[in-house]
Amino acid sequence: MRATRAIIHLDNLRFNINEIKKLIPQGTKICFPVKADGYGHGAVDLAKVALEQGIYCLAVATVDEGIFLRNAGLECPIMLFSLPCLEELDLLVKNDLTPFVFEEYFVEELNKVAKKNNKIINVHIKIDTGMARIGCDYTEVLPLAQKIKSLSNLNLQGLGTHLCVSDSIKKDDVKFTLSQISKIDKSVKILNENDIYLEIVHCAASGGVLMYPNAIFDMIRPGILFYGYFPDEIVKKYLNKNKKDVPLLKPVMELETRIETIKKISKGQSVSYGRTWKAKKDTYLATIPIGYADGLLRQFSSKLKVKINDKMYPIVGRICMDQCMIDLGESTDVKIWDKVTIFGPVNSDELGNTAQTLANLAKTIPYEITCSVDKRVPRDYV
Ligand SMILES: *Cc1c(COP(=O)(O)O)cnc(C)c1O
Repeated sequence: MRATRAIIHLDNLRFNINEIKKLIPQGTKICFPVKADGYGHGAVDLAKVALEQGIYCLAVATVDEGIFLRNAGLECPIMLFSLPCLEELDLLVKNDLTPFVFEEYFVEELNKVAKKNNKIINVHIKIDTGMARIGCDYTEVLPLAQKIKSLSNLNLQGLGTHLCVSDSIKKDDVKFTLSQISKIDKSVKILNENDIYLEIVHCAASGGVLMYPNAIFDMIRPGILFYGYFPDEIVKKYLNKNKKDVPLLKPVMELETRIETIKKISKGQSVSYGRTWKAKKDTYLATIPIGYADGLLRQFSSKLKVKINDKMYPIVGRICMDQCMIDLGESTDVKIWDKVTIFGPVNSDELGNTAQTLANLAKTIPYEITCSVDKRVPRDYV
C-alpha cells in the first residue's frame, strides 16, 4: 500500500451512531447517507458497520452508487436522493432502489418499468419546502399520492423534505426551518384526512437532528454527524452554550503519509513551482508523496501545518499534483519514513488538524474535504 493512505476508524463510526441514537426516540428509523462513496470514506465498509448497529436504510445520490452497494451484497433498503434519468429506471427497478418522486409523468414511467420487471417499487414523495432543489409544492401532494396509489407496481412508502438552514441559529433561518417543518405536518394531515397513511415521514439531516426535535418524525437522515463532524461549528457552540444534548463526535477519517526524503537547503533557496517560498535561513526540507490530485488542495500551499511526531510543521511552497514539501527547521530529529498526519481523529484540545481545520482554511465545509480525498488514496479500514 502507498505511504499516502486514508485510515478509516470504524470504531469511531460505531461511536458516532450510538451518540446520535441518544438524541432520537427509540424506534426512530435511521437512514445512513453514503452518497459520494460514503463522503469519501468508502461506502461499502461503512454501510456494513452501520447496518450491524441497527440502521434501517442507506442512501445514495446515483443509480450507479446504488448498484455498487447491491453488488457488494447489501440487501437493505437503499434510497436514491438525486434524480435518475429515464434510461436509468430499468436498473433502478432491477436493483430495488427507493427513489424520491414528485412528478406525475415520472411515477407513470417508473410504474411501467416496474411492471415490465414484475416488481413493486417503494417510493417516497419529495416535497420542496424551501430548498428549491427537487420536490413538489405541499399543495400538490394529495393528487400525486392518489396517482401513486392508483398505479399497480408502486408502493407509496414515505414522504420527505430537505431543510436548507437547519444548521443555522439566525432568527430568520430558524423561522424558515419551522415553516418548512410545518409544511410536512400539513402534508401528512391532508393525506391522513384522505385515508392515505405513510410508513415513513422524514426531513432531518444532521442540522435537523441536532436543532429540531419536531423534525425527527419516523426517520432521520444525518450524514456528516456519522462521519464525525457538525454540519456547522456554530451549532456545536450553540448547543454547548445552551446546555442541550451535544453528541460527542469522533472523526472517522484520518489522512496520513510519510516522509520520503529530507535534504538541507540554504538560506534564500526557493521551493517548488513559481518559487513562491524562499528559506529565511538554512533549513531541512522534507518531501511527502501527497498532492492536490490526492485531495490536498493547492490553496493550502504555504498555509497548512501538518503533524509529525507530535509537532506541527508548515507545508512550504506550492503543493504539486503528487508531492509537496515541509520545512522541518534548522535542526530536526524527523527521519525518513516518519509518519505525517494531514488530518486525523483528534479532539479539540489535542494537537493536530481535523477535516474541520482544513475546511476553515479553505473556507469550505468538512464534507468537501473528505469527499476530495481522491480514489487513488487507498482506504485502510481499522
Ligand atoms: C446529503 C443529504 C443528507 C445528509 O446531509 P448531512 O448534512 O450530511 O446530514 C440528508 N438528506 C438529503 C436529501 C441529502 O441529500
